[in-house]
Amino acid sequence: MSDCLFCKIIAGEIPGNVVFENDKVFAFRDINPQAPVHVLIVPKKHMANVLECDGETAAALTDAIREIAAKEGVAESGFRVISNCGHDGAQSVNHLHVHLLGGRALPERMG
Ligand code: AMP
Repeated sequence: MSDCLFCKIIAGEIPGNVVFENDKVFAFRDINPQAPVHVLIVPKKHMANVLECDGETAAALTDAIREIAAKEGVAESGFRVISNCGHDGAQSVNHLHVHLLGGRALPERMG
């Protein structure tokens, strides 16, 4: 999608701190990290949010989450995955993304 920030990062038109890539999934560090590890994991194919996500993409994202958590050293200590959806979910970029947060004990409260 031509005016999508994350499509531009995937295409290399805007720099991203890339941590993982395969044929379906791209992942880069959040520009405003909320934890020592804060990675955004996105499908390469543009879709607005989880409401548009098909099973194949969901499986690819899950596999990437597992691999990135191990690579970032948080698989054993634990981590959080969040995907904000729509206005009330505080989604600010309309390209499906999963936040992977870890590297410290996160607060229990979710919102
Ligand atoms: P959300 O609010 O769930 O839509 O999350 C969007 C996330 O994208 C926020 O955590 C931002 O800090 C992050 N973000 C915005 N622009 C960039 C960028 N150019 N590179 C990396 N992360 C970004």
